Amino acid sequence: MPAHSDYRGRFAPSPTGPLHLGSLVAALASFLDARRAAGVWLVRMEDLDPPREEAGAANRILNSLLRHGLNWDDEVLFQSTRSEAYQDALRLLDERGLLFDCDCSRSQLGPAGACGNRCRGQRVQVKPPSARRVIVPPQTYIAFEDGLQGLQGEALGATLSDFVVKRRDGLDAYQLAVVVDDAAQRISHVVRGADLLDATPRQVYLQQALAVPTPHYSHVPVITNDAGQKLSKQNRAPALDDNAAPSNLRSALRCLGQTEPATDSRDVTALLEHAVRHWDPARIPAGLAHPSP
Ligand code: GLU
Repeated sequence: MPAHSDYRGRFAPSPTGPLHLGSLVAALASFLDARRAAGVWLVRMEDLDPPREEAGAANRILNSLLRHGLNWDDEVLFQSTRSEAYQDALRLLDERGLLFDCDCSRSQLGPAGACGNRCRGQRVQVKPPSARRVIVPPQTYIAFEDGLQGLQGEALGATLSDFVVKRRDGLDAYQLAVVVDDAAQRISHVVRGADLLDATPRQVYLQQALAVPTPHYSHVPVITNDAGQKLSKQNRAPALDDNAAPSNLRSALRCLGQTEPATDSRDVTALLEHAVRHWDPARIPAGLAHPSP
């Protein structure tokens, strides 16, 4: 679909399991926001963590998106093909004097999982396997305006002195990969689940350190189950039934506070067209949402 604006959005699932209602809500919100703005909508497969992934999940997710009418533009970007780009970013951070190696075990790490001064101060000789961490200077303050959650500010340097950008097991870290790829794909708007709100200051910090633009962020409510827990693979959120795509889309629209077509349409394209026309982010509840029947 040709874009008529500079808007570039994306949905970035991790293939740890099939889509569930919570991930559909995030996908739908970013899709509707992009299409309403006549922008581009991309899908990026965040397949960075093979031990947590499920065989076949990436294809299953892509197929589910299509069955729900969520057609993306351009090719899907697989993070597993991007290690060179992450390596380049690490090199840049290193040149800026912002990286150090850390072999701390979990029990040696300080508050918020930071290393603090043990490895950085070179008080110990760091031995492999080690992680690479980025230094956050103590005075670092990160502020950004979230489209749904309002002004966010965090004294990141006070809460976190460093964080992992290359894992000890040799895998690329999500925080770095997401920043490198949002920049490479020229993403202007990130619409995603509010469970990632607290990761955003770290990502904005990395954007500043790498001198790449910060996208506009909107964090949509996390969907909870009957027990009030976030729907996730860990608490066995049921996989979406692709044969029930129209009713799944209606549930997701209700979670997002949006209007549904009055007619009993079974056609996902018509449902989505209606949803794009009536998309109103001001109606999205800020907090948790529980799907109503
Ligand atoms: N891959 C992440 C997840 O599935 C989302 C990353 C993002 O949207 O920034 O939780």
